[in-house]
Amino acid sequence: MIPLERVRADFPILGRTVQGKPLIYLDSAATAQKPRQVLDALRAFYERSNANVHRSIHTLGEEATELLEAARDRVQRFIGAAEREEIVFTRGTTDAINLVAQTWGRRALGPGDEILLTEMEHHSNLVPWQLLAQETGATLRHIPVTDEGYLDLEVLDRLLTPRTRLVAVTHVSNVLGTINPVARLIARARRVGARVLVDGAQAVPHLPVDVRALGADFYVFSGHKMLGPTGIGVLYGRREVLEPLTPAWGGGEMIREVWLDRATWNDLPWRLEPGTPPIAGAVGLAAAIDYLEGVGLDAIRAHEVALTRLALERLGQVEELTCYGPRDAEAKGGVVAFNLAGVHPHDLAAALDLDGIAVRAGHHCAQPLMRRLGVVGTARASFYLYNTAAEVEALVVALLRAQDLLGLRPSGLSGPAGPRASRT
Ligand code: PLP
Repeated sequence: MIPLERVRADFPILGRTVQGKPLIYLDSAATAQKPRQVLDALRAFYERSNANVHRSIHTLGEEATELLEAARDRVQRFIGAAEREEIVFTRGTTDAINLVAQTWGRRALGPGDEILLTEMEHHSNLVPWQLLAQETGATLRHIPVTDEGYLDLEVLDRLLTPRTRLVAVTHVSNVLGTINPVARLIARARRVGARVLVDGAQAVPHLPVDVRALGADFYVFSGHKMLGPTGIGVLYGRREVLEPLTPAWGGGEMIREVWLDRATWNDLPWRLEPGTPPIAGAVGLAAAIDYLEGVGLDAIRAHEVALTRLALERLGQVEELTCYGPRDAEAKGGVVAFNLAGVHPHDLAAALDLDGIAVRAGHHCAQPLMRRLGVVGTARASFYLYNTAAEVEALVVALLRAQDLLGLRPSGLSGPAGPRASRT
């Protein structure tokens, strides 16, 4: 059980009002709020130890270096990586995926090779591979999504062939919430000799993740979705896979020796971290991990399952409302995407904002998935450790109110009500 009152008191932003109403923040899948402990760690770093790392002999420089490298150790333990050299700090998930594409991908792929993605990927796990395929002549293939919102693994044997060099798949969908069977996918990919990158942006903040138990070659995530600051992310790569990589970007820190016309490379992980790293970001991320582990990932997961179950049940009672993705709360992360018939999701989000409720609306950086669902976009409520059952109830009440408002006032927020879709 989560000590909810105590947890909520740790998040200063939850004390504010929006449009004169107490804030109900249901957009943690986009970015999570930050507890005082993370804010304090950032402030302490800037007030006491701020300096650049690795290059200075003075006390502050050494303190900053120790904090950065201690954060790396913290991340290593948190995700069960075998070695600290396997943890590369990046700017976020997007940066980490592009880094893999531009280092490992350029080296490993050629014409006729295949990259296997899925129809439910975030643009971050589609576009870098599209760019790489254009550059190398590789071909993209995609695992389809079933009507229930799961990956269609029936066709995997056809899609996964000895030509497949990489499988890149999200651990948890940022729209449907689906928790994909990544361990199974990795085992299958291994059999044809393919590498696997797992996009853990929606998983690491919410579920216990052990990269070694999964067997992933690459596993990536963002600090800001797990209570940490923006501007920091992680690329985990198995040492054996990272070791042969030459840098994609040059600059300070990633070199061993530089001449006017050439350079040699530093060891891992610094070889892949050109320039000044996100030092404060790493300090904040370590504090975020401390916080998450203090509450417990199992407790966080159980809390989110309970909220998601309640949300699915209560939203299911709203007339003309369609939910997307698995109906089983155990099979999904704390994400519920939905549409109200005849109301554009942007109008719905604007109406909910009048009640102080923050939900995301739009294509959620997953336009191919929107096409698969046959919609232009959806509204999305996403939950985290600080959300309450009362907030889920408030969402439902606000939706009913929005429905009344929009339906009764054709010239109001959304214009005339459109065709009424049946509830699926
Ligand atoms: N992958 C998934 C599944 C996401 O949900 C997100 C962010 O919403 C990203 C990748 C991109 O993360 P970032 O913008 O932090 O790089």
